[in-house]
Amino acid sequence: MIEYELKGPLSQQRTRIRLGASLKENHFPQAVIIEGLPGIGKKALAMELSKALCCTNASQRPCGECFGCKMSVNSGAVENWVIPLESKEAKAKKASDVSEGSSAKTVEEFTQVYIQKIIENPYSIDYLSAAAEISVDLIRSLTGRFSLKNDRVRCVIIAEADRMNESASNALLKTLEEVPPNTYFILTTSSKEQLLQTIRSRCLSIHLPPLSSEEVRDLASQYVNIPISDDVLGLSQGSVGRAIYYASKATELQDLALEFLESSISGNYSDLFFNLDSEELKDPAVAILFLEVLSFLITDIVRDMSGAPLRLAETTRQFKDKENTPLDLNAYTVALQSVQETMYRIGTRRTSALVCLQSLAIKLFDGFR
Ligand SMILES: [Zn+2]
Repeated sequence: MIEYELKGPLSQQRTRIRLGASLKENHFPQAVIIEGLPGIGKKALAMELSKALCCTNASQRPCGECFGCKMSVNSGAVENWVIPLESKEAKAKKASDVSEGSSAKTVEEFTQVYIQKIIENPYSIDYLSAAAEISVDLIRSLTGRFSLKNDRVRCVIIAEADRMNESASNALLKTLEEVPPNTYFILTTSSKEQLLQTIRSRCLSIHLPPLSSEEVRDLASQYVNIPISDDVLGLSQGSVGRAIYYASKATELQDLALEFLESSISGNYSDLFFNLDSEELKDPAVAILFLEVLSFLITDIVRDMSGAPLRLAETTRQFKDKENTPLDLNAYTVALQSVQETMYRIGTRRTSALVCLQSLAIKLFDGFR
């Protein structure tokens, strides 16, 4: 009898035990979606599963030593991955079309760089820009390889699967309708609702829960040398990737959130709009992370009025220490709603993040007047 043991944090153990049992009973579905918040280890679990599926050890899987295990965590094995590419990268040539001696990077080489980054830190949430997507060509070159004869188990991880564009989704759907033998697909996503319903219905959905504060602190400390403060833990909401991100950005973003709220309330926008007009905030993903900090700050101000514990204690105190701080519970509640609406609006990517942030500032001003 082969035993399966998938490694990972305690908070997610129940999910892994269930998956281990279906591997042991040889019931593992050929297509699964791992979904959950960004930065909680969906790709880490996908790589563990890939090893377990491809492992050839006779008694204990994954063994970590055999060819199958090693190829599951090898950046050279581009055939095991589909990763969104930036538009310039997607336009590069394929390795098979490049003439000898060409120095231009190929699609495979760009993909390798991303695989390497994921292997080094599967929790990272900012390794791609918001514009990166999975094109139909990436899905076609994947399925093209299936015609080659292969006796080994094949496991493909499709990272950030919600970034498949329409034609890529349709191409994958065709493959999922008839998955080749010995082949497994593992899709990871933090916005499952953006996947085609027809794709979702062909995959087993695995929900991965957030991690405990201790796990976040332990894991994040393995990747960054900055101490993980309580404020950062509060902002991370059980996500290692967010803790890593906020560990270096929290101070900056909290200062900006403070300025945003103060300037909006007082109606002094000119400096604020200048500070908002930064390259980083033009990225919708960064703008949303900033608005999360702002929403935590506003929530804390409201919590503070009722004596509830705070998550951004230091910044909230700084805000309260200012003169003329309004104590209007209703205005803060409306403000929080506006922040959430703005996050949604930026998420749809129809309006530029900067324009959304500017109109939010004006809305807040109106709300406190
Ligand atoms: Zn193995």
